[in-house]
Amino acid sequence: MKPPRSLVCLLLLSSLALAQHKTPAHKKRAAPAKAVPAWEAIHQSALIIDTHADTPQRFLDENFDLSQNTPVTDGHIDFDKIKKGNLGAEFFSIWVEPEFKGRYAARAMDLIDSVYQQAARHPEQMTMAFTAEDIVRAHGQHKFAALMGIEGGHAIENDIRLLRDFYRLGVRYMTLTWSNTNDWADSSGDIQDPKVKHHNGMTDFGKDVVREMNRLGMIVDISHVSDATFYQALLVSQAPVIASHSSSRDLTNHPRNMTDDMLRAVARNNGVVMVNYYSAFVDEDYRKAAYDPEKMKQRDAQVEAFKKQHAHADGSPVTYAEYAFIEKKWAEQFPRPPLKSLIDHIDHIAKVAGVEHVGLGSDFDGVTSLPQGIDSAADLPKISEALYQRGYNAENIQKILGGNVLRAMRDVEATAHRLQAERKEADTLSFEELELMVGNRVTTEHLLDVIREHGVNFDLTPDRRTRLKAEKADDMVLDAIGKAKKR
Ligand SMILES: [Zn+2]
Repeated sequence: MKPPRSLVCLLLLSSLALAQHKTPAHKKRAAPAKAVPAWEAIHQSALIIDTHADTPQRFLDENFDLSQNTPVTDGHIDFDKIKKGNLGAEFFSIWVEPEFKGRYAARAMDLIDSVYQQAARHPEQMTMAFTAEDIVRAHGQHKFAALMGIEGGHAIENDIRLLRDFYRLGVRYMTLTWSNTNDWADSSGDIQDPKVKHHNGMTDFGKDVVREMNRLGMIVDISHVSDATFYQALLVSQAPVIASHSSSRDLTNHPRNMTDDMLRAVARNNGVVMVNYYSAFVDEDYRKAAYDPEKMKQRDAQVEAFKKQHAHADGSPVTYAEYAFIEKKWAEQFPRPPLKSLIDHIDHIAKVAGVEHVGLGSDFDGVTSLPQGIDSAADLPKISEALYQRGYNAENIQKILGGNVLRAMRDVEATAHRLQAERKEADTLSFEELELMVGNRVTTEHLLDVIREHGVNFDLTPDRRTRLKAEKADDMVLDAIGKAKKR
C-alpha cells in the first residue's frame, strides 16, 4: 500500500529542510550549471521559420486547437511542440483539395479563418504576421508568428481579383500549382498524364498572375510545379521565389524535388529552397519502396472505400484530415529513413545553390512518414545538432533555420514597393496629357483635382507655361503644376 501523497510530500519537504539546515550558508554553492552544448545554444538563439505545415486542415476539419498537446501520430504541431522546437514562425498552408471544385475560394477562406481563429484564441502565445518585420517583432515578444501561404493556384479560380483579395486577407505566398495542373500552370503531379490538358508551362494569364504577385508582395512559390512552369516563372518573376517544401532530385529522384540546375537557378534569383522532410522526398530507398505501384493501389483502394462509406450527407468532399489515418497506417509498413537522409538534402542544396539559398519547409501535418528522430516540431533541435556536427557554424545554421527566408521576404517586399512606385510614376501626368486637357477646356476645379491626385512628371519651363497660358489655363492650375512635380 502506498502512503498518502500528502504524507510523502511532507516527508520530502522536511528532509529537504534538514539537508539545508545542515549546510552552512557560506558553503552553499549554486549547483554546477549543466553545460549547454554549442549546437543547442545556436538553436535556442535562432529565429526559426518553417515555410510549410498543413495544420489548418486540422483546425478546420478536426476542430483541433494548438493548446492541445497531441500524440505525434495525430499531429506534428501544437504549442508544446512549438516551444520545445523553438519554432518562431510557421507558414500555414491553405491547401484546397481539388475535390472542392466549384468552391475553391470558399474553402480557402474557411482555412484562412481557421488560422485567424487560433491567433484570436491565444493572443498571449501567438500572433498573425504578414511581413519579415512582423516575424522579427513577434520573436522579440516571445510569440509564435503565424503566416499563410496558398497551396495550389486553382484557389484563385482564374480571377486575378481573388488573388488580390487573398493578399488582403494576409496570404503571403502561393504555390502556382498543387499536384494538379490548373487552367494556367502545369504541375509536376500530373505532367505524365495524357488525359490532362497541359500548357507547356504557363499560359499568358499564368504569367500575369506571377507579375501581379510580384506587385502585391506575395512570394511566388514553385514547389509542386512542372519543370517548364518552374523555368518560366523564374523568367517572369522580378522578385526572389521560394520552393516552400521541396528537396533535391539529385539525391531522391522524385519530380516534386529540384534538380541541381534548378537549385542553381533559384540561387541566381536570390530565392530559397526549403527542404521538405517527407521520407519519400529525402530517401531514395524509402521512395522506391513507397511508390511501388501495387502497394499504392492498395492504399488508394482503401481510401476510396472509406470515402464511399463516409460520404457526407451534404455532398461535400471527405477531406484528407478524415482519411489521413489510413495513409499513415499504410506508410508504417516502410521503415523510416535515418535522420542523415534529411540532413544530406540540406547539405546538398547548401553546396549546390549556396548556404544562402536553403531553408526548412517541413510539410508537418501533411506527410505520412518522417525520418527517424523527427517525430514533430519538438525535434527541430536535432537538425541544428546534425548540421553543427557536419561543420556548419552558428551563422550558417541560423541562415538555414530562418535567416534566408527572412531575407527573401524582405526582398519580395522591397520589389513590391518598387513596382508599386513605378506604377504610380506611370500614372503621373505628362505635359502632353495636361495640355490636351487644358485645350479640351476641362474645368479648373477638375484639373486641380487630377493634378493633386496623380502629380506631374515634368518641369514647368517658361516655354510650357506660355503654351498653357495660350490655351487659357488658369493661374491656379499653373500654380498647382509647379507644386505637383513627383520625384
Ligand atoms: Zn505540398
